[in-house]
Order: sequence, then structure tokens, then C-alpha cells
Amino acid sequence: MATAKKRKVDAECRAFQEKWTNDYFFVEVKGKPVCLVCGDALAVMKKANVERHYSSKHAKLSDLGGQMRLDKINALRRCLESQQASFTRPRCDRDNVIQTSYALSDLIAKKLKPHIEGEFVKECIVKAAELLAPDKLQLFQSVSLSRRTVSDRITDLAQDIHKTLKDSARDFQFFSVACDETTDITNTAQLAIFVRGITAEFDTREELLSLEAMHGTTTGEDLFESLVSSMNKLELTFEKLSGLTTDGAPAMVGSQKG
Ligand SMILES: [Zn+2]
Repeated sequence: MATAKKRKVDAECRAFQEKWTNDYFFVEVKGKPVCLVCGDALAVMKKANVERHYSSKHAKLSDLGGQMRLDKINALRRCLESQQASFTRPRCDRDNVIQTSYALSDLIAKKLKPHIEGEFVKECIVKAAELLAPDKLQLFQSVSLSRRTVSDRITDLAQDIHKTLKDSARDFQFFSVACDETTDITNTAQLAIFVRGITAEFDTREELLSLEAMHGTTTGEDLFESLVSSMNKLELTFEKLSGLTTDGAPAMVGSQKG
């Protein structure tokens, strides 16, 4: 009985009533009652609170009646709407500008270009904007692509990739590893370690776990240590390791050492 009554009261009082706009100069914004006159948002959607705000702060508006009252409400409502639009638009633009900076830095990294190239890219996009979208020129000019920024963005992206990989590695029920060792153009041995894992939901993922530069010797022991250290970085344990594939080189299969 008591609950039923409480619910009825809630349903009546906790929803915005259209007539509050005319009676108390209030409108609903994102589920909150907002005063058209001073812009205050009340925490609770209750007639009593709205009425109290109106009678304590804007009581003199009671003199306005009829059409004058409606005109005043409409003017205030338009004012609030344009205010909100100007609050959301710049933030949206700012997000897009930052996103552009990340996307272009990502391209620079993927094409193996020096980070300083960002400054040239910036020149290009500003030039293109001058010709194609002069009204948006300011946006293009605010994309930061200095050498320092590009380098910071690429570091952020790399950390994010590592974090994503680490998160998915945590869900692996089993994983297998494939190793291949080769020598790069500077004659440094590089050990590429690929991991393929499966989760309890049978989702599989295959990623490059690590590319380890092997300085000094490349004995089986060195390779093993590299593998262990890159597994540790992702908190992968040997209990879940189901298979290990190599190219069959003597150091890999451990013909000398077990
Ligand atoms: Zn107010």
C-alpha cells in the first residue's frame, strides 16, 4: 500500500510538466529542470523545488501576463538554445582537431617517415584548405603537427596498442607463439615473436607480440630470454602456452642446448 502510493507520487512529481514553463519559466534540459532566467539547473525534478526557485528569485516576473509572458519565455528559450549550441560546437571541433593530429601522426609512423615531416604535412593541409575550404581554414591551422607533437602522439598510440594487447592477453585461455629470427640491414639480429591466443568465447587474436633486437650473441639461451621477457611484458605464463613454432634453425630448436 505504502509503496504503491509512493510510486504514484513519484510518477506525478518526478517528470517535467509542460506547464512549468509558463508558470515558473522552467524548461527540461537533459532530464533536469533548468531556469530560463538565470540558467540554474535544479537537482530534483519536483514542482515544489521549481516553485520555490521561481518565487524566491524571479517573483517580479509574475507581473508579466498573457502574450508578453509568452514572448519573454520564447526569447529566453532561444537564448538558452544558442548558448548550448555554442558550448557543444567548439568542444566537438577541438576533439576533431586532436583526432586529426593523431590520425596524421599514425600515417607518418606507418610510412616510416621522420617525425619532422609532420610540419610539411601541416603546410600541405593548410594550403589545401585555403583553396578548398577557406571557411574551415582556422580548423586546419589549429591541427598541431610539430616534430614534438608527432613524436608524443606516436608514443601514445604505441602505448595504447600495448595496453589493448595486454587486455586481450588477459582473456587468453591458451596461446601459441611463433618465433622467427632474421638480420636487418644494419646487421642486427631481430627476433620477431608472434602470438595467437584464444579466449573462453573462442575468439582468436593474432598479433606481433614483440620485435626484439638481439645485441651480442643469438644462442638458443638468448632467444629464450627474449621470449620470456616479452611474455612477461604481457603477463603471459607458460601454463597457457599450447604451442611454439620456429623456423627450425639450430639455435631455435636447441640442437646444442635443451
Ligand atoms: Zn532562476
